[in-house]
This record gives sequence, structure tokens and C-alpha cells, in this order.
Amino acid sequence: MKGVITKIQRLSIHDGPGIRSVVFMKGCNMRCAWCHNPETFLRKPEIERLENKCIQCLECIKVCETKALFVNNGKVHFNASKCTQCMECSEVCYSGSMHKIGEYHTIESLFKQIELDIPFFVKSKGGVTFSGGEPLIQHQFLYECIQYLRSKSIHICIESNFSMKWETIEKFLPLVDHWLIDLKLMTSVEHKKWTLIDNDKVLQNIKKLDSTGNSYELRTPLIPSVNDNDNEIQKLIQFVSSLDHCTNYQLNPYHTLGNQKYKNLGLENPFEIENEINRADLETWNKQLQQYRK
Ligand code: SF4
Ligand code: SF4
Repeated sequence: MKGVITKIQRLSIHDGPGIRSVVFMKGCNMRCAWCHNPETFLRKPEIERLENKCIQCLECIKVCETKALFVNNGKVHFNASKCTQCMECSEVCYSGSMHKIGEYHTIESLFKQIELDIPFFVKSKGGVTFSGGEPLIQHQFLYECIQYLRSKSIHICIESNFSMKWETIEKFLPLVDHWLIDLKLMTSVEHKKWTLIDNDKVLQNIKKLDSTGNSYELRTPLIPSVNDNDNEIQKLIQFVSSLDHCTNYQLNPYHTLGNQKYKNLGLENPFEIENEINRADLETWNKQLQQYRK
């Protein structure tokens, strides 16, 4: 069995306890307007165009049968709507300008990369975090990977939007040491408007997980003009305070680092705003949250 993986980030200290390898899996069922990882939306490899790497050798033009690549004013341009993701251009582009995102991995090829960091996991009480996209989209591959890593005594975290069927989540419970769950909005209609999926299942799944006593934490991406208002934050705090086993809850302020990625992929950015979160508000909310951090 193979899974498609966007990248493996080594030596991370932000995605669970200790030093970790983070496996970013490709594919997501949500389309959060503010997403800074749009390269994980599709569950298959795809092309991004890194314009500043192009040396205008025109090799890609020779192999692009769909005319997604064309020359205008002596420069190569990319029309993503004509691209069939055949990957031919990435094979001939030695500068790396036509960059393939995503590789198919077997469990063995994935482990080959992960095992390099086992000494760091052991020293720091770290391990492997599966992120995305939404890693549970590839739940069959993920299940087999985690079973294998557990057989090597590696600590496992999954970072998830928690909108999958409970039956899917449930089968992972014996294998996962800690869950990192994104809770974006409490107001269902707003959740659907901004992510294209309503939050009923997310909330139900969090409550079910809480009742099992498994280890998990919640994080809310704090997004300007979406959920950075007192009404929404108070609803979130109320929900979190009703839970018994949530070990941490944090607000992660929006950043604009993903904006260039939309351009590289030829995607329209649905949320190109430069507003920042009001630091005074953030401080107030963080103080209120202190009491719910267990
Ligand atoms: S092959 Fe790469 S470097 Fe050469 S023109 Fe195409 S994109 Fe630019
Ligand atoms: S991946 Fe897209 S741009 Fe590249 S050769 Fe194929 S169709 Fe053309």
C-alpha cells in the first residue's frame, strides 16, 4: 500500500512533545479560506511554479503538451487551468522552477526517512506527528504506518480537523498517544461558510474523544474578521471548559506565509488580507484561557 505525502519535516518542536518528525499527508476535506498549506488540498502529487528559480532555458516548453506552459515577452508563464499534472516538466527543469509537490511512499520508504531521527526521539521523548492536509483522509495507509511505527516503540501524534466519521477515528485510539485537534469556530453556519463543512461532527467527535480519556489538546487558528471576536471566543472557551481531558488549548494567530503558495499553484487566494490579530485582545483571551489549561 502507498500513501501520498507532501513533505517530511525533521526536528520539529512545535507539533507535539519532544523533537518530532512531522509527516504532512496530502489531501484535505476542508477548504479553510485562510489555509496556509494549499499544497496539501489535493490527494495526489501536483506542480507548483517557483518563478524566481526559472533560468528561461525553455526545456519545459518542449514537453508540455497541453500548452499550460507558454512563452510571452521572452519569459515562461504557467496557466494552471491547462495543467494535467503529468509532471513531465518537473523531470526536465533542472533549476527546480517546475517543482513537484508530493511523493508516493510505501511504509518502508517512509520509515527509511523517519528512522534517522529515532535517537532524537529517544532523548527528547519525541516521536512522529502525522499532519496534513487531513491525515485521516488516507486512513488505511495511515493505520498501517502507525501500526508499524508503534512496533518500533515510536510515540505517535495525529493532527486532525476531526471531521471524519467517529468509526474511523475510533479505530486509531489504541495506536495514538496524543491528538492535536483544530477547532476553528463554534458557530456552525460560520464554520460551513469559511471551511465548506459544518462543525457538528467535529464537536461530537471531540466530546466522544473526551469521554474516552485519551490524551488530546485543542488549537484554534485565530483569523481576522472570522473568529477574532469576543462572542466567538467566549463560545469556544465555554466549550473547552466543559471538557474533562483536554490537556491544553491554544489560540494560534493568523499569518500570511501561505499567500505566495497560492500564486505558485496558480490558485486564487480566497483570503488575501493583511490584517493582523489585535495583540491586546489576544492577551486578554490568553489570560482567560489560562484557567482551562490543565
Ligand atoms: S525548464 Fe525550468 S528553468 Fe527552464 S524555462 Fe522551464 S521552468 Fe524555467
Ligand atoms: S505538469 Fe502541467 S505544466 Fe508540467 S508538462 Fe505537465 S501539463 Fe505541462
